[in-house]
Amino acid sequence: MEYYQIAVDGPSGSGKSTLAKGVAAKLGILYLDTGAMYRACGLKAMKSGIDTKDQVAVEQMMQDIKIDITHENGEQHVWLDGEDVSKEIRMPGVSVAASDVSAMPFVREAMVSLQRKISEGKNVILDGRDIGSKVFPNAKYKFFLVADAKERAKRRLAELKEKGATDVTFEEVLHDIEYRDQQDATRAASPLVKVEDAIEIDTTSISIEGTLEALLSYIHE
Ligand code: C5P
Repeated sequence: MEYYQIAVDGPSGSGKSTLAKGVAAKLGILYLDTGAMYRACGLKAMKSGIDTKDQVAVEQMMQDIKIDITHENGEQHVWLDGEDVSKEIRMPGVSVAASDVSAMPFVREAMVSLQRKISEGKNVILDGRDIGSKVFPNAKYKFFLVADAKERAKRRLAELKEKGATDVTFEEVLHDIEYRDQQDATRAASPLVKVEDAIEIDTTSISIEGTLEALLSYIHE
């Protein structure tokens, strides 16, 4: 049996995870949030007191890192060295650390091979930055989501507040998003790009429900 992949790429806050989760639930396939893996790497660097820009130290850290992904009731859990860090990786600070370490080729190679391994023998929808360009260049469907940076910051702030991060401000979140946009799009290793065969959807002024409908209509066509 042939299995298929659906790639959802785009910058942070463009709605990738909500939409990919929605499509996965609708089609009954696996959803894999690849950003969570880079966040786990960034978190490990933070916990170990490593400068997240220090390639030598991060490379050494990656020698014995253990990242596992499990799914419980449709929710993805991320395990770092045996500990469930699914909540911790969402906290402010971890996103910038993830962006820093994810620019390093040896980090990407390890995560991409893990993503391919998890996807083996399954129909899967993955969200990230390089799914359509690098992880699964032959994905059956490729979507590229974009949205205005301020709108993305607004969404991210609401999400963080919901998760209990009460002291974070709009300006801090916007700065985080702009920092990552710049770094993720200009790095040498698998930068964020829209591949030619991806369908671009601007989610700035359409609701998540509207965008989900749009994605599903492409898939059912
Ligand atoms: O998607 P999320 O915002 O959780 O990703 C956190 C960071 O991980 C991104 O800013 C990006 O630097 C990195 N990332 C990546 N490639 C992916 C997914 C995430 O480089 N496929």
